[in-house]
This record gives sequence, structure tokens and C-alpha cells, in this order.
Amino acid sequence: MADTTVGAGDGAAKPGAAKTAWLWHPPLPIKSAPLFAWPPQPAALVKYLVSPFFLWSLILPFGALATLTWYYLQPPLAMSVTWQVDWVLWVFARNLGLMVVVAGGLHLFFYTFQRQGTKRKFDPRDLDRDNPKFFARNQVWDNIFWTCASGVTIWTAYECFFLWAYANDYLPYYLEWTRHPVWFVLMFLAIPFWASFHFYCVHRLLHWPPLYKLAHALHHRNDNPGPWSGLSMHPIEHVLYLSSVLIHVVLMSHPIHILFHNQWNALGAATSHTGYDSILLKDKPIFALGAFHHQLHHRYFNCNYGNTFTPCDKWFGSDLDGTPESLAKMRKRWRDKRMTAKT
Ligand SMILES: [Zn+2]
Ligand SMILES: [Zn+2]
Repeated sequence: MADTTVGAGDGAAKPGAAKTAWLWHPPLPIKSAPLFAWPPQPAALVKYLVSPFFLWSLILPFGALATLTWYYLQPPLAMSVTWQVDWVLWVFARNLGLMVVVAGGLHLFFYTFQRQGTKRKFDPRDLDRDNPKFFARNQVWDNIFWTCASGVTIWTAYECFFLWAYANDYLPYYLEWTRHPVWFVLMFLAIPFWASFHFYCVHRLLHWPPLYKLAHALHHRNDNPGPWSGLSMHPIEHVLYLSSVLIHVVLMSHPIHILFHNQWNALGAATSHTGYDSILLKDKPIFALGAFHHQLHHRYFNCNYGNTFTPCDKWFGSDLDGTPESLAKMRKRWRDKRMTAKT
């Protein structure tokens, strides 16, 4: 089967178009953040950290949302001293509301009202509407179920654990931002890189065949994902994927960092699975979503287990940078592996 990886640029989606042709993709090869570049590139790193992609589309919006949540949408910490249904339900309802606004809003924008048409859309196909592999044969309803029933519940469980631990002063550190303003700010910048490394490790584990069959296959039914596919996972995967927040047990943090970290993982999964590169205003990208790297994982499966914040895939030989050369190399590796397994 012919496979070019490289698509045809902007254009209208064609019904029944070949699964292998991309409508649009970012400049190739896909590059990782220059944090671990060797020799070090401090100027490139600073440029990246203040870039429209990293600072304006990710850190500032997620930072603002976490701060807003802490000051206006959060039960007072004193309520969390003992386990009570009222404050736990408060956190669950709040998280559910946030997910509906973010994933639901993106779905309405891109797919229901098609406000952007196919501009900056990766895959020409529409979401699955009549496929028996999904509940009610509908990809979107199926994805909404797993996201809300399991994803939001486990996200809430991690959050409530931290609120309860902070309220009882069980954690070794509580970061007062007035006393440690630099550390407070640096933590927001560091979380994406830690979450990326953690994602690579747990994702690699989830591709271990027994665990894949048991849990991760559910997420991979979405070979053409939409916003609701991001957190559409098996509960085992939710527990593993969202566990990166546990790093704050040993790091000096403020509860806003916990909210930021969880929202980054949960709501960020919705923004990074839209199937689009960015939101446009008058044909200019104003909000980067930028997940072609992970879109390749959904299509080709045995590659790109991490994301572009850390070069884990490059370090461990699973990087597919989107170029035809890279795909040919990866295909050869998969073939060799199958041959070795047979002999
Ligand atoms: Zn996977
Ligand atoms: Zn995914």
C-alpha cells in the first residue's frame, strides 16, 4: 500500500479519502523542545519558553485557569480536613463542568459547526458515526462516556487526595508564593517537561501486550481522534496517566500547582486530540494545539509514545518525525522485529 505520510497541504476533505494522506501537517521533521539539546542551546530554549506555542497557548491559559479555579471555583481548604460528600462532589462537578466546556466547546467549534472547515486539520476523515467498535456505534458518545465516567472521576480523586493532605498538613512542604515567588513561577514551566517524561514511561508500559489488551486498546480505537478522545481511556490508564501529579508529594508546591498539573493532563488531553493544529482567526493561528506528533502515534501505533516537550522518543528509538524517510526507517524496524519474533 502506498504511503507518503506527507500530505497535500490545505484542502477540502474528500469523502473516502485515503487514510494515509494528510490534509495538513506542520513543517517536517517535527522538532522537540530544545531543553535537552546537546551542546546546550540556552538562547533557543529561552525563545521556546516565551514562544506563542509554549507561553501564550499553554502556560498562560492553563496558569490562568488554575488560578481562577483556586480563587473562585474551589471549596475552602478547611472543608477538606475530613472526607465529606459535599466538597468532593463540588470538585467533581467543577471538573466535569471544565471538561464539558473545553472538550465540548472544541467539538462544537471544529466538528458540529465546522467553524474552521478543514483548515489546519490533519486527517481528511470525519469522526466515526456508524462503527460497531464504539458504544452506540458512535465515536463521540463513546468517548464522552469514558471521559466523564472514568476520566473526570479519577482526576477528581487525585485532586481530592491533595486537598485533604494539604488541609491536614500531611505533606512535607507547602509553598507560600509570597516567600518563594521564583520557585512558584518555575514550577509552572517545569510541570510540562516532567509530565512529558512521565507520559512516555507510562505510555510505553501501556503498550506492553497484556496491558495494552486489557486497558490501552480502548484509547487506540480512536485512530482518528477528536477532542473527546483525549481522555477517553480505560480506568487503569487513567490511574497511570494522571499519576504524574504525585510528584508534588515530594516537591515544594502550592495547591494551584496541583490544579494546573491535573488540568494540564486532563483538559490538555482534549486540546491535544482535536485533530487540528491550531485555532485560526482570519487564517492566522491564534491558539496552538499542535499535536501532530501524537496524531502519528494514533495512526502508526508503535512510535511517538511521548510528546515534543522531551525527546524521549529520540533517546529510546521510537521517534517518527513525520518525514517519509523516518517512516521508511520505522517500517524497516517493525519488519525486522516481526522477523526476529518469528525465528
Ligand atoms: Zn498508545
Ligand atoms: Zn492519544
